[in-house]
Amino acid sequence: MDLKEYITIVEDWPKPGIQFKDITSLMDDGKAYKYATDQIVEYAKKVDADIIVGPEARGFIIGCPVAYALGLGFAPVRKEGKLPREVIREEYGLEYGKDVLTMHKDAIKPGQRVLITDDLLATGGTIEATINLVEKLGGIVAGCAFLIELTYLDGRDKLNGYDVCTLLKY
Ligand code: AMP
Repeated sequence: MDLKEYITIVEDWPKPGIQFKDITSLMDDGKAYKYATDQIVEYAKKVDADIIVGPEARGFIIGCPVAYALGLGFAPVRKEGKLPREVIREEYGLEYGKDVLTMHKDAIKPGQRVLITDDLLATGGTIEATINLVEKLGGIVAGCAFLIELTYLDGRDKLNGYDVCTLLKY
């Protein structure tokens, strides 16, 4: 199955010059969504993950079905002010300004092997902040899995030393 056939490319969205890779057309198709999920499930087994972690919101779409398939937990990474209990926080740079990601302090037990999931690796800023949160909690980043990698943005440079799996490259 060629998963690229299920990704819709939207030119100049959300702003001029950006070529947005819309994964909702892949999610709409049960066979394609399952095929993609199954590959990440195999990767999660390979890296021997104990728990899945994903940043909102599309990291949930990729990670939650993987967690369900393997009977593992899923710990959400969310923007500031969204999680109800005590959190740790990590600031990260955006094209303009900065943003904050948070995780519940007890979301991961020290020594747990963590698979981080997201829909797309662009500059790598989001995943770098997520890795920092996981490691602050004592988790071991066993791997990072994405549906899509935009190789021209060199996000992998921020993931040196980590195991990375991407299903599609542009
Ligand atoms: P980054 O932190 O730069 O790696 O950006 C990663 C996040 O931004 C991903 O979770 C994507 O959901 C989103 N994103 C960035 N660029 C694109 C794009 N061209 N098409 C779709 N989503 C994108």
